[in-house]
Amino acid sequence: MPFNKEEFAKAFEDAVKRKKVGGISCPICSNGKWSIPGGYTMSPLQDELVGIKIGGPAIPKVPIICNNCGFVAEIALGVLGLVPKQEAKKATEESAQKEIAGKDQ
Ligand SMILES: [Zn+2]
Repeated sequence: MPFNKEEFAKAFEDAVKRKKVGGISCPICSNGKWSIPGGYTMSPLQDELVGIKIGGPAIPKVPIICNNCGFVAEIALGVLGLVPKQEAKKATEESAQKEIAGKDQ
């Protein structure tokens, strides 16, 4: 699903209200205004300390940037319920297929 900054901003605001989070202050400068650069990031989960495995499970996130000092925070979408179910299912299926393909080699 392509990233839509306006949809994410609204969904994020709703999720924060639902979770009863009292605003988001920057841990560096205490500013409360953030920018959304637009786009997802993924943190791949590794089951070993040596090497990097690409294509396995990952944490989908959206970065937000403090408007004052530039501190970057990352929001894990799953915790806030912001990962569309179809996307989560697709990612799981693709991961499983790559794992199976990797075992055949
Ligand atoms: Zn800041």
